[in-house]
Amino acid sequence: MNTNKVLIVGAGLGGLSTALRLATRGYQVQMIEKNERAGGRLNQIKKDGFTFDTGPSFFSMSYEFEEFAKDCNIKLPFEYVELDPLYTVHFRGNPKKYFLYRDVDKLAKQFEDQEPDFKEKFEKYLNKSGALFHDTVDIVIKQNFDSTLGYILALMRVNPVHLPVLLKTFWKHVTQYFSSKEARQILSLVAFFLGRTPFDTNSVYSLLSYTEFKHDGYYNVKGGMYQIVEGLVKELKKAGVQIAYNTEIVDLKEEKGKLNYLIDQNGMQWTADVFVINSDAAFFRGKVFKRKAFSEEQLKKKSWTMGYLTFYLGINEKLPEVEHHNYYLGGNFEEYAKDVMKNPGTLEKPYYYVNVVSKHNAECAPEGHEALFFVCPVPNLLYKDNWDDRDKIVDSIIEDFSERTGKNIAQMIVSKTIFTPETWQNTFNLYKGSGLGLSHTMGQIGAFRPANFDEKFGNVFYTGASTIPGAGLPMAIISSKLTTERVLNYKKRIQ
Ligand SMILES: Cc1cc2nc3c(=O)[nH]c(=O)nc-3n(C[C@H](O)[C@H](O)[C@H](O)COP(=O)(O)OP(=O)(O)OC[C@H]3O[C@@H](n4cnc5c(N)ncnc54)[C@H](O)[C@@H]3O)c2cc1C
Repeated sequence: MNTNKVLIVGAGLGGLSTALRLATRGYQVQMIEKNERAGGRLNQIKKDGFTFDTGPSFFSMSYEFEEFAKDCNIKLPFEYVELDPLYTVHFRGNPKKYFLYRDVDKLAKQFEDQEPDFKEKFEKYLNKSGALFHDTVDIVIKQNFDSTLGYILALMRVNPVHLPVLLKTFWKHVTQYFSSKEARQILSLVAFFLGRTPFDTNSVYSLLSYTEFKHDGYYNVKGGMYQIVEGLVKELKKAGVQIAYNTEIVDLKEEKGKLNYLIDQNGMQWTADVFVINSDAAFFRGKVFKRKAFSEEQLKKKSWTMGYLTFYLGINEKLPEVEHHNYYLGGNFEEYAKDVMKNPGTLEKPYYYVNVVSKHNAECAPEGHEALFFVCPVPNLLYKDNWDDRDKIVDSIIEDFSERTGKNIAQMIVSKTIFTPETWQNTFNLYKGSGLGLSHTMGQIGAFRPANFDEKFGNVFYTGASTIPGAGLPMAIISSKLTTERVLNYKKRIQ
């Protein structure tokens, strides 16, 4: 039986990296993408002379990208730059700017007035985070699981000393190490990177503090994050991989437990021996494969990450006082974070992130101008399905940002684009506009996450952040490795 022809649905990072791994191994790969450009959430807006990254603004675990390049016999087709400081944090009503340095002495200096013995506490905290990372990464994160039993057996190999961690939230864990509001809030911000809050994220994810501060840090890409996509698309072209854009898969034809072909919005049939789905693994199973376990009713019951309100401003002045990556926090962190998932009212006191991509990439804005990208975590469409008030919310953030920078930003705007959770949902087929898809609760990771192999069709696999291991760019790269392993094993099995 032939297994050589592969069709990949979705040209997000998961799809692109899987395509290159398979093409390198001699597979004949065709890709299909709903939008007019590759990249998925890792995308780009070019408008009014400005260039903005739409979603990801930095990545961790750079060695996963290096390993990927090696696996594909290429030189990584983009250049990345280490971030130090990682980002800055600002509290409302406090003029101090916190720089999150990787150097522990420099970092400790930031907290000397608020948190006595910060250095000792931080080292203790990082030792625990580091142990959590090293004791789980190879056993549970970078593994394929064929069954729940296999997953549970793997979990049993994790050092039992970590068991108590599973019983508390990220916030509880951080408060056991630090006593000041500033240290607690700043060190628990990373839980937001998983699309939830420190109050509903398990403390096992404090391992992320180790990845950001100690293990490998964060990286920017020269010329903007979209260079990752442009580089990969060039490599795919060299490898003979075709991408059909503006093509959305909406239906299928199956026969005897095998997927025969997929059907796009124009009725065109796409045949292959093997199919890899990079569209959201839960949503696609429900919407296109019509699986009962992923029906609208079932999807609603799952735990989803927050929505994002993102907007992209081109302004006609430079902002030298604002760094590349910045978090602006209000004065009610606990109350805000506990509510933000579900309560649209919390948007009146927004917490947000600002990225000044033109700070280190002059080509992203005309001379004397700046390209700004704002991300504000908001309820997804399950909790707020009407975004007619989007301009009002955006204006309130711009007003807050103006107050904090002492500049009238509204008057400087020459370009403005807004993405609500509706935009994210409709553009990339993200269920209810949930920015990072299914959340990473204990019941939705490992063997409990939508699997990277199909339950019914032997010749269908899934890749990207919506299947294992989970959200984020390095996870999409790891996912492509695990999916490639599945496709290769399938070939061995049926030949
Ligand atoms: C605002 C925001 C900020 C983020 N910041 C960071 C960050 O700083 N660092 C980080 O590491 N991660 C970040 N992430 C997460 C990261 O963007 C994702 O985890 C990653 O890009 C997911 O890649 P993917 O390939 O799995 O999925 P996607 O990027 O969603 O790609 C899936 C692709 O499939 C296509 N598709 C869907 N359905 C169909 C269909 N039926 N037919 C054809 N095509 C289809 C979509 O159009 C899309 O192109 C951020 C995400 C958001 C939303």
